[in-house]
Amino acid sequence: MRSISIFGATGSIGESTYDLILRAGGAEAFRTVALTGGRNVARLAEMARTLRADVAVCADEQSLPALRDALAGSGVAVAAGDSAIAEAADRPADWVMSAIVGAAGLVPGLRALRHGRTLALANKESLVTAGPLLMAEAARYGARILPVDSEHSAIFQAMAGEDIAAVERIILTASGGALRDWPMEKLARATVAEALAHPNWAMGQRITIDSASMFNKALEVIETREYFDVRPDQIEVIIHPESLIHSMVGFRDGAIMAHMGAPDMRHSIGYALNWPQRQDLPVARLDLAKIASMTFRAPDLARYPALRLCRDVMQTRGLAGAAFNAAKERALDHFLAGAIGFMDMGHVVEDTLARLLSDMRLETDAMTLEDILGTDHLARRRADESVQALAKGKSGV
Ligand code: NDP
Repeated sequence: MRSISIFGATGSIGESTYDLILRAGGAEAFRTVALTGGRNVARLAEMARTLRADVAVCADEQSLPALRDALAGSGVAVAAGDSAIAEAADRPADWVMSAIVGAAGLVPGLRALRHGRTLALANKESLVTAGPLLMAEAARYGARILPVDSEHSAIFQAMAGEDIAAVERIILTASGGALRDWPMEKLARATVAEALAHPNWAMGQRITIDSASMFNKALEVIETREYFDVRPDQIEVIIHPESLIHSMVGFRDGAIMAHMGAPDMRHSIGYALNWPQRQDLPVARLDLAKIASMTFRAPDLARYPALRLCRDVMQTRGLAGAAFNAAKERALDHFLAGAIGFMDMGHVVEDTLARLLSDMRLETDAMTLEDILGTDHLARRRADESVQALAKGKSGV
């Protein structure tokens, strides 16, 4: 029986993974080693009971008593805190889903790779912050990383059996998010609720807002560079509002292989779960005659500074990805808290990168986990300073 763990089980990707595991037979078909969550311990406990997990771990230490109560008599062990989540990744599982949101997903994913596991990677922040380290460790320990982001799963599938040297370009599709048709002058006043109204995909709160600002696409451009080891100038972004083509690969003979399907993350999660086979998946089938047409348009870089900034990050490489991601995470925290406006997120990230460059050298070939975590920490502090400076500038103090 195959053994699995799900990190970030209570989130959007975690729930979809759980759904597929249940449909495939649940505890009768898989041995569940570890399930982790953040604060939603009621749901975590429910999942752990159903799948008869060995251990359930919540990141929030204060929630441990509630998790313990919810799992009393179940035989499921409980633990809490970041180190307990990292330790859960040391437990032997054949297939590990990495679906914690943000840089918090890096350490458990890295630990799983160091045990040679197959890591289904939804947590794109891991590759953005630590791509070279992650890929090197996977190779060193004979581990496999299977992409779960729909774009990267599409590219992975389009490249199956192809020679990477024959790849000319990778075209990432972007829905454009909730605000894609708003006039530029209105964007600065967009609220959290407005940025959350995604037209096509049902996702977690943070990625939905990153989708509207295209910071999500910027992370994916870097993720593409790290995962497929192509040059930055080979990676293009195109807005495709219908989200039916999940991404494309262009080859040297001019052929373009596109991956199409309904916008449902169970496609790419299921592909990673069943790889290298394909199994039936409970996703809607496309009716092409009904769809009739698909549209594409080039993104406007003035509207989406993230798409410009990610090019600088790839140019610098080294620790720039960790700095970029951390600055983006803090800018998003401040937007969610109502402290800054929608378009201010781009300013804060750009300003943070400039501030950091005066503190340290971000270019490096040899980076350790400590370097990455240190850069992440410093970038968060500099981002907070940038937000304070922005507030002072606006109030004229
Ligand atoms: P959600 O916000 O829905 O879920 C995040 C999960 O991480 C939850 O289980 C949450 O716990 C847990 N969590 C939150 N903070 C921490 C922390 N500090 N330490 C440990 N666990 C934590 O996110 P999504 O499922 O949308 O996204 C997960 C990852 O997948 C992200 O990296 C995202 O970019 C990527 N992704 C998501 C897609 C989607 O469709 N949703 C598509 C492609 C990629 P709790 O809820 O219990 O607090």
